[in-house]
Amino acid sequence: MTPNREDYLKLILELGGDQEKISNKQIVSGLNISAASVSEMITKLVKEGLVDHTPYQGVQLTQAGLVNASSLIRRHRLWEVFLVEHLQYSWNEVHDDAEVLEHVTSKKLAERLEDYLSHPMYCPHGGMIPKADEPIREQKRHTLTSYPIGTKVRIARVLDEKELLDYLVSLDLQIHEIYTISDIADYEGPITIENETKKLAVSFKAASTIFVDQLEGCDQ
Ligand SMILES: [Zn+2]
Repeated sequence: MTPNREDYLKLILELGGDQEKISNKQIVSGLNISAASVSEMITKLVKEGLVDHTPYQGVQLTQAGLVNASSLIRRHRLWEVFLVEHLQYSWNEVHDDAEVLEHVTSKKLAERLEDYLSHPMYCPHGGMIPKADEPIREQKRHTLTSYPIGTKVRIARVLDEKELLDYLVSLDLQIHEIYTISDIADYEGPITIENETKKLAVSFKAASTIFVDQLEGCDQ
């Protein structure tokens, strides 16, 4: 499937492009396409006023680009909630189907879906669901790798990435669970977290994409 302009905008947003500049290189690896196609699309997006481009630095979303990307994320995440709550998908299965559905969802359908689901605030991965025509405001959180041993944390959000989610399912780690960090291995080794029922060693790579709320323990 060739990524369309909305896929670009969504990826730029997911990489943090509402706050800072994202390089073409990051977009190339995120969408798995040639550098030439990326620069061609960037030129189009600049003309349409959806991104600002600074040579040698990268692109950043304009307000219009942000609203556009937010509406796609809104549709994607509403479908995720539907698939998990009503069609018994697990959180590592929803991505591909939501990815297709988001592109064929009219504004009206998204509104009806939102009503039907009783206005959910978050997707199954803990991502915020923006309201219609509103830019997304993802809550600022730190990752599991940011806290010292002894900190009590709640798993609040994980990146919506198939490989990561499959890994988390294999670990039996779920969103909203509460753990205490009990060990941090040297040299970016695994981070061990535990509670009364589970003790998990989470790879550093995965831990750096898991966002948590700090409940107790040492301040950063
Ligand atoms: Zn999600």
